[in-house]
Amino acid sequence: LAATTVIIGFSFFTTKKSQKEITKIERVEKLLSQMTLEEKVGQMAQVTLDVITEGDNEFSSYEPLKLSDELVNKAILEYHVGSVLNTANNRARSTEKWHEVVSQLQEVATTQTRLKIPVIYGIDAIHGTTYTAGATLFPQEIAQAATFNRELVRRGAEICAYETRASAIPWTFSPVLDMGRDPRFPRIWEGFGEDVYLTSEMGVQMIKGYEGEDNDISNPLHVASCLKHFLGYSVPLSGKDRTPAFIPEIELRERHIPAFKAALDAGAHTVMINSGLINGTPVHANYDILTKLLKEELGFDGVAVTDWADIDNLYTRDKVAATPKEAVKIAINAGIDMAMIPYSFDFCEDLVELVHEGEVPMSRIDDAVRRILNLKHQLGLFDTPVTHYKDYDKFGSKEFETAAYNAAAEAITLLKNQEATLPLKKGAKLLVTGPNANSMRSLNGGWSYSWQGEKVEEFAAQYNTILEAIQNFNGKKNVTHVAGVSYVETGKYWEETTDIPAAVQAAEKVDYIVLCLGENSYTEKPGDLHDLKISQNQIDLALALVKTDKPVILVLNEGRPRLIKNFAKDMNAIVQTYLPGNFGGDALADILFGKVNPSGKLPYTYPMYANTLVTYDHKPSEEQDKMEGMYDYESDFAVQFPFGYGLSYTTFEYSDLTVSSTSLSATDELTISVKVTNTGKVTGKEVVQLYISDLVASISPDMKRLRGFEKINLKAGESKTVRFTITGSDIAFVTSDLQWTVEKGDFAINIGGQSDKFEITETKKFGQSGQML
Ligand code: BGC
Repeated sequence: LAATTVIIGFSFFTTKKSQKEITKIERVEKLLSQMTLEEKVGQMAQVTLDVITEGDNEFSSYEPLKLSDELVNKAILEYHVGSVLNTANNRARSTEKWHEVVSQLQEVATTQTRLKIPVIYGIDAIHGTTYTAGATLFPQEIAQAATFNRELVRRGAEICAYETRASAIPWTFSPVLDMGRDPRFPRIWEGFGEDVYLTSEMGVQMIKGYEGEDNDISNPLHVASCLKHFLGYSVPLSGKDRTPAFIPEIELRERHIPAFKAALDAGAHTVMINSGLINGTPVHANYDILTKLLKEELGFDGVAVTDWADIDNLYTRDKVAATPKEAVKIAINAGIDMAMIPYSFDFCEDLVELVHEGEVPMSRIDDAVRRILNLKHQLGLFDTPVTHYKDYDKFGSKEFETAAYNAAAEAITLLKNQEATLPLKKGAKLLVTGPNANSMRSLNGGWSYSWQGEKVEEFAAQYNTILEAIQNFNGKKNVTHVAGVSYVETGKYWEETTDIPAAVQAAEKVDYIVLCLGENSYTEKPGDLHDLKISQNQIDLALALVKTDKPVILVLNEGRPRLIKNFAKDMNAIVQTYLPGNFGGDALADILFGKVNPSGKLPYTYPMYANTLVTYDHKPSEEQDKMEGMYDYESDFAVQFPFGYGLSYTTFEYSDLTVSSTSLSATDELTISVKVTNTGKVTGKEVVQLYISDLVASISPDMKRLRGFEKINLKAGESKTVRFTITGSDIAFVTSDLQWTVEKGDFAINIGGQSDKFEITETKKFGQSGQML
């Protein structure tokens, strides 16, 4: 609030409302008092006007670039629908076309309806403005996390907000704050990885990027963000999308709530609900989670929107409602404000009836509609229902592209570099092979110009694949390309074909092999897996190339860590690119040839075996050396690469750890400082990571928890001192009474460049018994 006056009274203080706030309340309350029940219920409905398959639903429109007038009228005039999503026929369109589409809707909503309430348009602008041709596509969230660079994440969201508004859309369904703690889950690339602190920090940066420092979303450079998928979506027992998760309350509080809480505290305006079940109850039906936790305990006063058709799912899939109408009753009473229907108007009719029958209280409807109207007001939609693409001349600019390139360059993570194989010398003879070598689709992943990313090649032809970028850097004549394994489209999805002998033959004439493996793009259910191992064809290709005795540089391009144990030891170098976006090829080439020094760090534990899915913040009983001496094979908990891991072309030395105090209570602050020196020959960026270990606690403590990180740039020979401030909450954990508590005892402060090997460690006595935060 810009003009806030604080009146301090005798034993209380209160905040006087700003003029803006008063106008909002007046406008919203006036509208509410004038609305019929049907109009209110319409505001709670969100429809899509996409073509799914010809003629299979009443919303089908066969004109891809203009919405059917009949449909728009039915939705807005007949059913008073207040929100629309993803009307893109699953295909990107230009800013100009977006302007036409949104104008068409707003024209009807703001001139032909009784109360002239604008529609709110929402879209999955996930790593850039997904559905707009020419938009700047950034690395996906998992790769942005690997940068460990807050500034880059914030800048990416700012640019996404700009380009989304340039597309006349004020609301993005991002960020994803689901914890990537199980690589079997098909959507972990949409989030910031396995760590609670990293996810919270990056989530907050994204909110600030989308909504602005002051969350003034009426600013036409900002959009409303949507935190998803509240809560516990990413850890289903089966590893498959939208299947049951079993999460004890203590785990919900320690690992799943904190990132959402941090983002809500940062002012995020909307939340999307988890499509799955927790402990048997669909989250969309869960009053405790939606109302008691989200709205009351966490104080959320924005809009809670369902995920795709999830009210219907209570009836059709989850069997907690005997009829579709009962499903509506359960979800709205549980705390849903807006239903992503997305096709059937039955929701509106059912909800009107339920209110008449006294099954859903009018107060619940008013609460939901008040939240929705507030959001529309906050976004400035009553005054400016459509932003104009002509006012956004930086759309797709060089400046924006550079930001996306920088994010890719700082994300890419060097995981192995035996005998300094990298960087390569310019002019080296290379074979570039593998199914990911020449694909813009695999560089971008899902939510890229279309849902599954299947339209990428059509829209990203002007950007460089890995092959093209290497050719540009190294000269075409020095680069041979044979795919060896290729992805081929099969109807909806894809399969692999192979020609391994051709790749082996081509390897004979080169100095190095750049082997690009991983996955093609996918998201949600189509990404469910039978096997976490990288595909057998790709394993065969790798093993065949190893036999040539040429040095192999493995480039991974994948949404989640696919197991590479069969051949990782035979690779001379390994580079993880994640899903680095449109400039990932260029950034990778610059790293391979040493123009850029790699500085990314893994935001997850890279597993070695499918039966050993441990996160870095595991319990002492899951430590690597648990069974040492008992078996003659490696540790029960061996991983391929640890969380936070990533190499550089230079070396860093840590020294002079100082800790400002020997004790810390729930309310104290403590400063930790450490000196870091670049002891190698080239400039490099280091992610200085602070971990705290609670050595003994009333609940078996995590081995360590990330509690701070700073990314610094050091020239050869240069030193910098990095300071971290920690408070009582950094050493607290959730005790069996479900409270965050500081317990008295010894804690180790560990600092280093990765989570499994600390350069510097010190043990301190902290805490006072049983202090609650
Ligand atoms: C996904 C959401 C997405 C929504 C709208 C759902 O299937 O789970 O993440 O925002 O569709 O496209």
